[in-house]
Amino acid sequence: KMRFPNEPEYLQAVKEVVESIEEVYNEHPEFEKANLIERLIIPDKIHTFRVTWTDDQGRVHTNMGYRVQHNNAIGPYKGGIRFHASVSPSILKFLAFEQTFKNALTTLPMGGAKGGSDFSPRGKSDAEVMRFCQAFVEGLWRVIGPDTDVPAGDIGVGGREVGYMFGKYKKLAGEFTGTFTGKGREFGGSLIRPEATGYGNVYFLLEMLKTRNIDIKGKKCLVSGSGNVAQYTCEKLIELGAIPVTLSDSDGYIYDPDGIDEEKLKFVMELKNLYRGRIREYAEEFGCKYVPGARPWGEKGDIALPSATQNEIDQQDAEMLIKNGVFAVSEGANMPSTPEAIDIFIENKILYAPGKAANAGGVSVSGLEMTQNSERLSWPSEQVDEKLKWIMGNIHENCVKYGTESDGYINYQKGANIAGFMKVAKAMMGQGIL
Ligand code: NDP
Repeated sequence: KMRFPNEPEYLQAVKEVVESIEEVYNEHPEFEKANLIERLIIPDKIHTFRVTWTDDQGRVHTNMGYRVQHNNAIGPYKGGIRFHASVSPSILKFLAFEQTFKNALTTLPMGGAKGGSDFSPRGKSDAEVMRFCQAFVEGLWRVIGPDTDVPAGDIGVGGREVGYMFGKYKKLAGEFTGTFTGKGREFGGSLIRPEATGYGNVYFLLEMLKTRNIDIKGKKCLVSGSGNVAQYTCEKLIELGAIPVTLSDSDGYIYDPDGIDEEKLKFVMELKNLYRGRIREYAEEFGCKYVPGARPWGEKGDIALPSATQNEIDQQDAEMLIKNGVFAVSEGANMPSTPEAIDIFIENKILYAPGKAANAGGVSVSGLEMTQNSERLSWPSEQVDEKLKWIMGNIHENCVKYGTESDGYINYQKGANIAGFMKVAKAMMGQGIL
């Protein structure tokens, strides 16, 4: 806290992990002797650079660019790039820290990193976004590469932005390698990568429901966000007969009591991905409720799948969710629940999956994209989807192994933290003091 007084999100993420691994850490005096905890918490390297770009009117702008290379004990640095006005070193450090444990859970050889910029793509033209992406890569390209650090998408960075960044990287580095994941299909992107985080979250949810013999069919689902993760979460929920009833963006949320069906979801995908519109327009199109400036947690539902951003469920929201009958929360976003909200979920013994377990499907398929790029092969979607299901099942198993409490309650938060930590810790110990 004294070293990083202005980094609340980073401290929040670290505290959550350190508290839940304390018990196993104390069982290993060799960890303490090697001061493993500080070496694991403090990122290996943080790159900071200025990004200069020109808008369509010829005005010159600056933004900050960052890449936090957190830990590469088990593989090359790997993690997304976020473009959002709120991006700060604290947010990227929390995300990179979380990413290290998440990537360890996937069983694939990937270290943890995160990067981004305080650039907001909102309201920018396609040409402006392209110039920004190119300028961002000018600052980044020397520290990334197929065997050193492989970035991907995150908030504000989807297929379009990854494509522009990959193109510029290819030109500067003079090589065609799988240095970014989430690429277009035509130039090395993996099938199922766009779907992977949302689908993976629902696969994880299914595993959790199985432990209590609950059928997902007919369950009302509160989903937040309306971007990549939220869209494919809805797609899989609909396919399985569940009923998503909410979506949101940073301006507000919609509540559709009839459920978001395939056709309505198609509208959302076009609205968000092609026209870059607002979720309010859903309510205008289908005549349902729109609540500006609010999040959907006050609505009635069975399952919550937060898929927008960090700290979007606070204590009050958590209390409301439980009161309204929600019995499962599966996090598509990273750290969407505050520590107080998590305490409420666990005290009430509901099924609660932290992001580092439930949303690991995205980076898992990114790992599979890296494998396909190295092989110079492209796997069929069924094969990728099968592997994704297997990985999510395996993460669930590990959470059960390390997180089952004496009364039988599965504490997924503890399970995921311990499983991820033990793998990285052992790898660091095996490689000496660095
Ligand atoms: P997108 O940019 O595609 O969508 C983000 C959605 O969340 C948008 O609807 C956006 O609204 C909303 N949102 C963003 N910031 C805020 C905010 N501060 N307050 C309220 N709403 C907000 O991003 P993704 O879907 O890719 O990411 C969503 C979450 O999932 C993030 O936490 C990300 O870290 C996590 N995640 C993503 C993975 C991936 O593969 N993409 C993998 C693992 C985790 P608006 O349009 O108004 O900005």
